Amino acid sequence: MLDVPASVLIALLLLFASPAPAASVRSVDFTEAPEMADFSKKAHQIGDEMYPVVLKLMAEDPSILPQQFDLVFRKTLKVPAYALPRERKIVLNAEWFTKHPDDVGAVVHEMVHIAQDHAPGAPSYWTEGVADYVRHKLGYTNSWSHPRCSAEFPHYTSGYWCTSAFLMYLDEQFGSNIVHQLNAALRQRPYSDAFFAGATGKPIEQLWADFQKTPYHKPGAAKAWEAKQREACTNQLYKIHQAIQAFQQENGRLPHWLSELAPRYVSSTNVLICPVTRRTKEVASFGVLDPLLPAAYVYEFSATRIPWLENHWVTMKQFKLRQKELVGDGIPMVRCHLHQPVLNLAYNGDVFESPTGWEQRFTNATVRAESLSVNALFPEEQKK
Ligand SMILES: [Zn+2]
Ligand SMILES: [Zn+2]
Repeated sequence: MLDVPASVLIALLLLFASPAPAASVRSVDFTEAPEMADFSKKAHQIGDEMYPVVLKLMAEDPSILPQQFDLVFRKTLKVPAYALPRERKIVLNAEWFTKHPDDVGAVVHEMVHIAQDHAPGAPSYWTEGVADYVRHKLGYTNSWSHPRCSAEFPHYTSGYWCTSAFLMYLDEQFGSNIVHQLNAALRQRPYSDAFFAGATGKPIEQLWADFQKTPYHKPGAAKAWEAKQREACTNQLYKIHQAIQAFQQENGRLPHWLSELAPRYVSSTNVLICPVTRRTKEVASFGVLDPLLPAAYVYEFSATRIPWLENHWVTMKQFKLRQKELVGDGIPMVRCHLHQPVLNLAYNGDVFESPTGWEQRFTNATVRAESLSVNALFPEEQKK
């Protein structure tokens, strides 16, 4: 035996047992489109962060799938982006991403194509449907790309959003493993619809019929229902804005919680709860809880500490007031995550839709995403 202290041995073992994983993005080439310098950084970062997560959604043992890929920007293409899975390459349209710098979800969609490794002849609606399912499941939805069946994509064999909605439903009913299994079936050939009967005990026609009965995913009905909820929610957000303004005038400060607005400034606490929550009991609070009304909207200026940071005593209100100095009065004050895209009531009273990350709307050459972070805004907290 070598005479080495145990702690050194353990440190050495750890060092060799868990080498740093290689970055997912092998290279980024924007020489043809230098205007993509900023976006390419964003795409690179999303690639490295999200590809390992994508792989986990694609197979039980992600190590069997392609681990790396290249990003290449082209000046103009007929489509926003496409993947060349054999070459492990994603080609991105500079013109599209100049116009739609928020559409990082399109990059995630192409990353799924790299990871799929489906056999030639696999039905393209599954290939496209799984790509959008992963995109949506990871939260990369926007005003046009979110799970639903519509006139453009009415059936699971249409691919994209409708197939994504169907897979979301199957995931909910049978667990995420169903998509692992479906991918495994699509990597082998030939694929057959009999897969579904084997995996779920129900033939695909039955699953599709069951899916259509669900209120969220019924073609047409889901759309109309969502639009109605969104409109009702928007009206409430306007009322909340009036109430907050009245509160501020009388008290000289913002309320600490939305519940502080009742009963003097709103007719009923119902105004402070999204109609979707009132109906389904579903909440999306991200830990920003109102002490008296935990099912209320997410009030960004709450006097509660930022729930997702440990050992930090910065409150949501302090954080948002500093962000507001940078981005202005358009900053979201109340947010409702029960709609896709998210509904936001801005400090200035506007109601607007955004992805989960509203910051993209405000970041530009002078305001960078990094400068809106807690670390950047509260450097004094870092030294503690
Ligand atoms: Zn695709
Ligand atoms: Zn709502």
